Amino acid sequence: MTFTDTDKSPPCPRQDEHRPSLNILLCAPRGFCAGVDRAIQIVEKSLEIYGAPVYVRHEIVHNKFVVENLKAKGAVFIEELEEIPPHHTDRPVIFSAHGVPKSVPIDAQTRRMFYIDATCPLVTKVHHEAMRHYKMGLDIVLIGHAGHPEVIGTMGQLPPHAVHLVETVADVETINISDPSRLAFCTQTTLSVDDTADIVAALKAKFPHIIGPGREDICYATTNRQEAVKMVAPRVEAMLILGSPNSSNSNRLVEVAKSYGCPNALLIGDQSQIPWDRLEGISSLGLSAGASAPEILIKNVIAALEEKYSVTVEEITLTREHVTFNIPRILRDAQDNYAQGRDKQAK
Ligand code: SF4
Repeated sequence: MTFTDTDKSPPCPRQDEHRPSLNILLCAPRGFCAGVDRAIQIVEKSLEIYGAPVYVRHEIVHNKFVVENLKAKGAVFIEELEEIPPHHTDRPVIFSAHGVPKSVPIDAQTRRMFYIDATCPLVTKVHHEAMRHYKMGLDIVLIGHAGHPEVIGTMGQLPPHAVHLVETVADVETINISDPSRLAFCTQTTLSVDDTADIVAALKAKFPHIIGPGREDICYATTNRQEAVKMVAPRVEAMLILGSPNSSNSNRLVEVAKSYGCPNALLIGDQSQIPWDRLEGISSLGLSAGASAPEILIKNVIAALEEKYSVTVEEITLTREHVTFNIPRILRDAQDNYAQGRDKQAK
């Protein structure tokens, strides 16, 4: 099996066996985004520099494979700072890529903890946007999913009741704003592009003076992965999306596949969850992965499919991504010192 951008790969060496053919259309881009990559690097470098354990508040990114892998290296995942045992409050604690309410770093400072913030810079941008609107005296509507850590983090940048959360077009009808001429909106970064456009249109119809970002705050990675799925979904009989059930952007990819011509679309965590009964009799399969799912999961799924099918893989490329984010300065400086210390020891 080989990956190609435009051509189908040569026949698999085992094609002459009596296995059915399966053409896999592989979406590109897929999998890790720059924010996830940065967050994982932050945990890994912290472990390297400070040693284990390193505490991580909430799953660093919503992917079981990633979390288990970091646990094996010495990361300890907690939901609240108070779970860190008193004798470990000097250990680093990392805030997840989804962002945290303002109260969390304040709490860490009060407890004299050493924290490193792995919030994706594109989420931080939304935090700043919300604060700017608030300082201008505007009411703020946040489009997002109630209870998602990113939404909790964004709402937590402002005092309670400063933000009106809407999840659907129907919710727009129920919002009550004291001065509709002073209103702004922000969005969660991992929403469905199409659903959000509908909500924004409903907001603009109800509140013509509402201001917001030129495009929604949905990030480049979420947008590109959804657009790539839209290209593939109408061409395949089934579609598998790699991702964990609590990953917002992975779930959105399944919804996009379903509404763009592939009702037989499913979220799976890894190759052990391939729904073989739903693949029976098909000859084309779409494959993608949410922004928190590593490429190894895609490779493992293809390897498992090759056991039962004669597989060809065609990569369908929407665009190539070149976005990268630096890790925080505190960690870059610590890494330089660590490397210098090692060099001295070696001499
Ligand atoms: S999905 Fe977007 S907002 Fe979330 S971590 Fe990735 S780049 Fe950042």
